[in-house]
Amino acid sequence: MRTIDQFNFCNQKVIIRVDFNVPIDKNTVTDTSRIEAAKQTIDKICSDGGSCILVSHLGRPNGFQDEFSMRKIIDSVKKVLDKKVLLSNDVIGEDSTLKASNLKPGEILLLENVRFHKEETKGDLNFAKQLSQLGDCYVNDAFGTAHRAHASTTIISKFFTNKFFGKLLEKEVLAIKKVMSSGQKPILAILGGAKISSKIPILKNIIKIVDDIIIGGGMSFTFSKALGGNIGKSICEDSMIDICRDILKSAEKNNVKIHLPLDAICSLDFDNNSSSEVFDIMNIGDDYQGMDAGPNTLKSFEKVILKSKTILWNGPVGVFEFPNFSNGTKALGKYISESTDKGAFSLVGGGDSVAAVKAFGIQNNMSYVSTGGGAMLESLEGKTLPGINALLS
Ligand code: AMP
Repeated sequence: MRTIDQFNFCNQKVIIRVDFNVPIDKNTVTDTSRIEAAKQTIDKICSDGGSCILVSHLGRPNGFQDEFSMRKIIDSVKKVLDKKVLLSNDVIGEDSTLKASNLKPGEILLLENVRFHKEETKGDLNFAKQLSQLGDCYVNDAFGTAHRAHASTTIISKFFTNKFFGKLLEKEVLAIKKVMSSGQKPILAILGGAKISSKIPILKNIIKIVDDIIIGGGMSFTFSKALGGNIGKSICEDSMIDICRDILKSAEKNNVKIHLPLDAICSLDFDNNSSSEVFDIMNIGDDYQGMDAGPNTLKSFEKVILKSKTILWNGPVGVFEFPNFSNGTKALGKYISESTDKGAFSLVGGGDSVAAVKAFGIQNNMSYVSTGGGAMLESLEGKTLPGINALLS
């Protein structure tokens, strides 16, 4: 892995692929954490005496659309980076070429939304080549799009001998490695969320790596049904029942212990204010649906979490968006915090569990909280991401 620390960027114009795809509500950026995540890389290059040409997408525009213009975020970028940042009104046109060629050491240019060109997502070679000509070297710091073979995330790498992992990309890759290939035992994976089908490739991969797997949340009910339980109206994917049985068998063969819930807090309706009751996981009332982990489940999960030295968490163990059914996911966060305090390495990755730790304000208690949803999931599936591969070749 060639990282930015191994190079002095003095007098270099550096194209940095960042992920500034931030949420915007009524012209206001509501969460600047993706911009903050790129600051370390940008600061290092500027302090070396290099200049930065920032490339990012914003949303999913169809051609040029004002609502996805980088003008919407430029003030937040300046504020977070605490530096003057120029903006070009195109990506590979006259304006960006002129502004890039006039950049002085320490200066920063943000290009217009790279997805205004359909060539970006198509991974067009010629577009990547034109983009590459704006700079002398390339840094990828956009973990969130590293699973896409797009022009600015992957193809552009072909045109540089000097290409590097940015600080964020480096941290993400090291955190995944710490779990998947050099984790201290016992290694625990906690998988939750609604759909078992979306987690099957992860389960199949991690079963070869971990010692324990906790399965919670909506996806656990398909396992309960596979084991002959009555799950009432709980969420279930019938087409996955046989696969659940195969996974249980494969776990046994690999000496991996699967921990399923023992009980669940169940409600009559999918509603925060619906009346609720605790049921044994194998015998849920016909009119009820599982909404959150029950008290016995939490006690059993707590034991496993506290004995683990490496913990991967993907997916909530209940409908945490409803305050009345968020207790299980919150408790899990607390146990992982305690285990981390005692020296375990904890990685939280993949959309909703990241949203949960942020909502509960415990992100700083985890060893690492990933910034990439799809990219993290594909990494956990054991795939090498194209954006990362391109930097290595
Ligand atoms: P996923 O995207 O598959 O990780 O699923 C995350 C979603 O799973 C969250 O929106 C949770 O509300 C949902 N979820 C977790 N537990 C349950 C459950 N018991 N029933 C329905 N949805 C659930």
